[in-house]
Amino acid sequence: MQYRSTRGDTSPRSFSDILLAGLADDGGLYMPETWPRFSAEQWREMRTLSYPDLAARILSVFTAGCIDLPTLQTLCARAYAGFSHAAIAPLTEIENGLFSMELFHGPTLAFKDMAMQLLGQLFEHVLTERNQRVTIVGATSGDTGSAAIEAFRGSPHLSVAILHPMGRTSEVQRRQMTTVQDANILNIAVEGTFDDCQDLVKAMFADTGFRKAVNLSAVNSINWARIAAQIPYYVRAALMLGAPDREVSFAVPTGNFGNVLAAWAAGEMGLPVRRLAIGSNRNDILTRFLTENDMSMRAVAPSLSPSMDIQVSSNFERLLFELLDRDPQACRDTMLAFRQNGRMRVDDAVWRRATARFDALMLDDDATLAEMKTLFERSGYLADPHTAIGIAAGRKAQEPGIPMVVAATAHPAKFPEAVCKATGIDPTLPPHLAGLFDREERYDILPNALTLVEDAVRRHVGLA
Ligand SMILES: *Cc1c(COP(=O)(O)O)cnc(C)c1O
Repeated sequence: MQYRSTRGDTSPRSFSDILLAGLADDGGLYMPETWPRFSAEQWREMRTLSYPDLAARILSVFTAGCIDLPTLQTLCARAYAGFSHAAIAPLTEIENGLFSMELFHGPTLAFKDMAMQLLGQLFEHVLTERNQRVTIVGATSGDTGSAAIEAFRGSPHLSVAILHPMGRTSEVQRRQMTTVQDANILNIAVEGTFDDCQDLVKAMFADTGFRKAVNLSAVNSINWARIAAQIPYYVRAALMLGAPDREVSFAVPTGNFGNVLAAWAAGEMGLPVRRLAIGSNRNDILTRFLTENDMSMRAVAPSLSPSMDIQVSSNFERLLFELLDRDPQACRDTMLAFRQNGRMRVDDAVWRRATARFDALMLDDDATLAEMKTLFERSGYLADPHTAIGIAAGRKAQEPGIPMVVAATAHPAKFPEAVCKATGIDPTLPPHLAGLFDREERYDILPNALTLVEDAVRRHVGLA
C-alpha cells in the first residue's frame, strides 16, 4: 500500500514513512492511494475475532509491504493489554436502537488512547527496525498530550516534549501528564494560550536546523496511522449489530474531524455505513458547513467540551479531497483560499455529496447539560459533555430499524464538574487513577519564547 498527499506531492510513500513524517512536505495530508475493500464474506469472517486481532486484520491492509499480520497481532495485543475493560470498546443500548460505544477504557480515559496506544507500538517497531531515534513534540489543550505521554513513556527510541498552556487545562488533564515520571517525558507549561503552544510547535518544525538536530516527529491527529487505528472499532460495532447484512449509522462528537473520518473510511472499505451524524459545541464550523455550505472561521470560544473547542477541523481536508474526486490541485487551491480568506464555499454538487452522507447538530453548553440530565433520568446513563453532544446528534439522525451507534469519547470522571452540575452525581475515577491527586507533579514553566523552548527540548534529549 502506497500513500499520496492531498495536495499533489507526487512521490508515493510507504506506511512506515508516513507514520514517522505525519504531514506531507507540500502541507497536505497523506491518503491511501486506493481504498482497500473487503467482501461480505470477509467481513463475516471477522465477526469472531477479538478486538486486538480485528484491529490487526484491518491495519494489515494499510501496512501491506511494511508490517505483516503476525507482527501486527503482537503489536495490537500489547497496545490494548492496558485497557480496563475486557471488551476494549463495549457497546451498550441506552435507548431504543441507540447504542453507546465506549472508547474511554484506556489509560487516560479518552478515545485518543484507542489510536495512540497502537501508535506507540508502531513507532517502537519501525524505529527498532531502522535503528533510529526521534523526538516527538506536541501541543495539547488536554487529551492529546496525556494520550501521547501514556503511549510513549519509557520508550528507548523516543523522547517526548508536550507543551500545554499554563493554567488552562483541567486539573485531571494536567496531572495525567505531569505525574508521569519516566525520563523520556518532558512537560512544558507555556505562559500563553493553546494557540501559542501550537505556534511554537509549528515554529520548531519550520526551524530546519533544530528539526534535524533532534529528529523531530509528530503524532497529532493528521497522522494517517491514527485514523487507520480508529477504523476497527466502527467495524467491530457494525459486525456486532448485523453488518455486513444490515446497515448501521454512527454519530460522533467532532473537533478535528479525525474520529468521524475513520467511520467514513470504514464505509469506503465496504462496510454498510448508512448515515454519519456529527455533533459540535458552539464552535460549530462543521455544522455550519453541513447545514448552510458555510465554512467560515470564527474565534474559538471555551465550552464544557474543551476537546472540541477548535476553529479549523484539519482532517476535513481528507474528505474534501474525496468530494473533489481526488483532484489534488483542486484540493490544494480550495485549502489555500480557505487559509487566506477564512472561509470556504464549495460547488453545490460537491456540498450535496457531503450532505447526502453527513448530518450535523450543534449543542451549546446549556443544551449539553440538559441532554446529560435527560439521559441520566431516562436510562441512568452518565455521559461526559462530549459524549452527550454525540448522543443528541445521533438521536436526531436516527431512522427506524437502523441501529445508531454513538462514539462515547470520554469517561464521565474526566469532566466531573459538568457531570455533577447536570446530574448531581460525582463520578469516581477508575482504580488506576485513584491516586492521581496525591502524586508528585513535574514540569517546566517557560515564557512563550521559541529559543527557550528549543533549548529545553535540546537539554531533554541530551544535546545541550
Ligand atoms: C479529541 C476529542 C474529540 C474530538 O475528536 P476529533 O477526532 O478531533 O474529531 C471528542 N471528544 C473527546 C473527549 C476528545 O478527546
